[in-house]
Amino acid sequence: MSFVFTPPATVSVPVVGQEARFPVHRVYCVGRNYEEHAKEMGFTGREPPFFFLKPADTVVAVEAGATGSIPYPSLTKNLHHEIELVVAIGTGGKNIAAADAHKHIFGYAVGLDMTRRDLQGEMKKAGRPWCIGKAYDHSAPIGPITPAAQAGDVNNAELFVQVDGKDRQRSSTAKLIWSVAETIEYLSAAWELQPGDLIYTGTPEGVAAVVSGDTMVGSVAGLGTLTVKVE
Ligand code: MN
Repeated sequence: MSFVFTPPATVSVPVVGQEARFPVHRVYCVGRNYEEHAKEMGFTGREPPFFFLKPADTVVAVEAGATGSIPYPSLTKNLHHEIELVVAIGTGGKNIAAADAHKHIFGYAVGLDMTRRDLQGEMKKAGRPWCIGKAYDHSAPIGPITPAAQAGDVNNAELFVQVDGKDRQRSSTAKLIWSVAETIEYLSAAWELQPGDLIYTGTPEGVAAVVSGDTMVGSVAGLGTLTVKVE
């Protein structure tokens, strides 16, 4: 087969303990999945999970021990960090029951759902899609994927992000409104999951702005550290 131009390279994420990399298919994100974050965004209560997507090529994969970098994006004056547990799907499927979700998980990683909050807010107010606020270039930094068997208890793991050494967000995945398994059940009812899908599971309270020169250090217990500098 020939193409009219060279197709883009496959986006991939390093895997802890092996040479082979995880090829990214889609990036799904869960909105308002921690109660205190839902409140700080002006919402309350438990609603069914809802989803948005980022294109695979928004992923910025950061190698183990390295400091990644993202450019300060265009158009915004309010770039926010959202620290998140990321689930990496290894086996696809649709209508997956929560009880079977673990069979579809390859591993887990630390991710940052970077957000042009001002643009997202304008779109929300107008009832328009969030793409310009959420799905922009370089908006999905991620650290190496730890295979599930080595990841410890991701359902009860402390997660945090610090900016220039100071805590911004600190919580536990035990506070997820919809657990990883429940999220996979909902998501796979709406889309057929494929190997290579990443699921950013939502962020706790404390989202706030970063500016050029800031360095974010994020972590989910058992999954290492993700360091990203805003250029
Ligand atoms: Mn998020």
